Amino acid sequence: MSQINKIINSAEQQCKAKGVRLTDKRKQVLSALIQSKKALSAYELVDYLKDEFKAPLPAMSVYRILDFLQTEQLVHKLDIANKYVACAHITCGHDHGTPQFLICNNCNSVTEVVIPNDIIQQLQNNVTDAGYTLESTQIEMSCRCPVCNAQTA
Ligand SMILES: [Zn+2]
Ligand SMILES: [Zn+2]
Ligand SMILES: [Zn+2]
Repeated sequence: MSQINKIINSAEQQCKAKGVRLTDKRKQVLSALIQSKKALSAYELVDYLKDEFKAPLPAMSVYRILDFLQTEQLVHKLDIANKYVACAHITCGHDHGTPQFLICNNCNSVTEVVIPNDIIQQLQNNVTDAGYTLESTQIEMSCRCPVCNAQTA
């Protein structure tokens, strides 16, 4: 079984366990994000689906599907870039935790790692101490990936 099929299978199991359905269109959007291996905006995703999957979907549907996939934590939205990535931990089975995204500002590749709880707690304290309320714990960092580093070394 291909890596993509494995991830889609896990995603389908997770949805089943929660009593929601990973429909064919939802699968297509998720597969496209997994296959593209980088963050895509909703419109880039519409083009990708049309060109690579021969599965044209109107932007409105893609937005609705992305909302669903985000709720199920199968896809994440990178707020700074306003782009979407497939979750890197769909087949893992551990608690999802708070994601930290390392975004290469040269090639746009994205790596998702989990932030330890004590660090999140510390960051939350800083927010509360300043009198703010936290709306998202997601952290996005502008980086240079190992591949790009190797090219310039
Ligand atoms: Zn994730
Ligand atoms: Zn994992
Ligand atoms: Zn890179």
